[in-house]
Amino acid sequence: MFNIDGERLWASLMEMSEVGRLPNGGCRRLALSDEDRAARDLFVRWSTEAGAEIRYDCFGNIFAIRAGTEPDRPIILTGSHLDTQPSGGHFDGVFGVLAGVEILRAMNENNYRTNAPICVVNWTNEEGVRFAPGLTGSGGFAGRLKRETVLDLQATDGATFGAELRRIGYGGESLSGELGFGAYIEAHIEQGPVLESGGKSIGIVSGVQGVRWYDLRISGAGRHAGTTPMSARSDAFMAAAALTASLRTMGLSLSEEIRLTFGRIEVLPGSPNTIPGCVSASVDLRHPDETVLTCFEEAMSSIVDTIAAAENVSINWRRTMAVPAVAFDARCIQILEQATLDCGYEWENLTSGAMHDASSISFVTPTAMLFVPCRNGISHHESEWSEPEDLTRGCEVLAKAVMQLAA
Ligand SMILES: [Zn+2]
Repeated sequence: MFNIDGERLWASLMEMSEVGRLPNGGCRRLALSDEDRAARDLFVRWSTEAGAEIRYDCFGNIFAIRAGTEPDRPIILTGSHLDTQPSGGHFDGVFGVLAGVEILRAMNENNYRTNAPICVVNWTNEEGVRFAPGLTGSGGFAGRLKRETVLDLQATDGATFGAELRRIGYGGESLSGELGFGAYIEAHIEQGPVLESGGKSIGIVSGVQGVRWYDLRISGAGRHAGTTPMSARSDAFMAAAALTASLRTMGLSLSEEIRLTFGRIEVLPGSPNTIPGCVSASVDLRHPDETVLTCFEEAMSSIVDTIAAAENVSINWRRTMAVPAVAFDARCIQILEQATLDCGYEWENLTSGAMHDASSISFVTPTAMLFVPCRNGISHHESEWSEPEDLTRGCEVLAKAVMQLAA
């Protein structure tokens, strides 16, 4: 095939990290800011120098395309995002884009031709910091967000998405119908501790867990704490305590992999000598398997009824958000496993706890992801760090998988 130049990849990561550099060493490149424009310009220059043709679409997604010998074949896509958190690091997203650039460079200097075209993408506004929600560019491209909705998004600083896109010079036309992709492989840092603690260089991601949010409201009766016998109470907090503990037990009986969090609890009236008359709580539920989430919801319904009757309170709950679990493409996963084997590295199969652009794209294109370790699992922080050797290995596996898909 061709060799990946790990030192060149590292040098590019470090050069990119100068764009929006923070005093403590991290990076701040909010979507469609001047810093984002500078990062985009660098990506465009490097990709052009490596022989790619640049296209960008109505969401500002940038596609660097290297022609194949069979122009009619669907394009094989890789990439990620260059925008960062307000106090972000040098690798989240950036690694996936610049690993793609390194593959373009290595192909170019070796005159390596694939049958299918290859494309490296920078998706707009993955992080969702300046404009919410995130995954905007990939969600728009995949048809999960309407074009007008995206262009009208308002930034925390008052600017609109469409105006900012034009201001930085990356507003184009829709390419969703024009660019046909055969597969998408995204490389990313793990943002968790599993690979590092297991001593593995490569993570192969089977999917992204689903998320459901609920609002929970328990109504009892606020009465005097000294004069009301225990048997005559409608204590909303006692009901909340019984309910949250029961939901945890039930959730764990469904699956050890479940994640259940009551992150915000308000107890009213909040007085030491008044029985709590009202409790409201948030519920954050996650699991890689949609059927487990649905089973949880059904069981929650009957537990709520039982506890409401036992504690003499009324309990109302409603779902406020549902992001479906994503299972990545079996063939893409198998190609990544074979590529890792061919490179002589060990891997771990894991599920992503975080959302990625690959989640959006998996709805329209066969998709998979590979992870590389990051120190102490830290991400979204200036101290985010990955070792150059791990990044090189990740890039080698990515290159092999992409070449296999484009053969
Ligand atoms: Zn990311």
